[in-house]
Amino acid sequence: MGQIRKVCVYCGSSPGTDPAFLAAAARLGEILADNGVGLVYGGGSGGLMGALATGMRARGGEIVGVIPDFLTARENMFKGATEIVVTSGMHDRKRVMFERSDAFVALPGGIGTLEELVEQLTWAQLGRHRKPILIANIKGFWDGLLAVFGHMGRNGYIHSAERLNYLVVDSVEKILPALRAAAPEREDEREGERAAIERM
Ligand code: AMP
Repeated sequence: MGQIRKVCVYCGSSPGTDPAFLAAAARLGEILADNGVGLVYGGGSGGLMGALATGMRARGGEIVGVIPDFLTARENMFKGATEIVVTSGMHDRKRVMFERSDAFVALPGGIGTLEELVEQLTWAQLGRHRKPILIANIKGFWDGLLAVFGHMGRNGYIHSAERLNYLVVDSVEKILPALRAAAPEREDEREGERAAIERM
């Protein structure tokens, strides 16, 4: 079992229509904080992002918001973050979010969440890292995406099952145990990942 010090969470910048997803985001924040696990996320205060950060903050958790320079002017930055990293554009932001995290979690969200999740899956599939990637399929939110992955696999477009090795859980309580069980145990594996990403 490997160590999980910081988790990068991708989730909707909007609240969505089902309050269960807002509650799930807030609960995940509480769980991470209670377990001494830091949060790396997009730095926003709205929607699920805000609920997550607020839940984390309420329990005194460490919050790193990574935000591109063009979004800092907006009023939506979460004010209670431990640290805000301002990056020059989206590409730099993704790199920082990757480097600062030991694992990635996708809660319900929209296009931004989908793009961030799929990018991590792509990097993992290409063998650039082995950090766990988890799809929080709360109330079956990601069923459609998982069906698309199955469809791609059956049609021969997804081959390397051991590399495209994402985790799926159906409740926020299962997230941290699943990530810990899947995390690389050895520090040299982590170092290898860092070097691989730098070469990308
Ligand atoms: P979406 O799912 O389209 O709402 O996009 C949410 C994801 O994209 C988050 O995980 C963030 O990293 C990023 N993102 C989108 N909008 C914002 C915003 N206003 N402030 C900060 N990050 C955002």
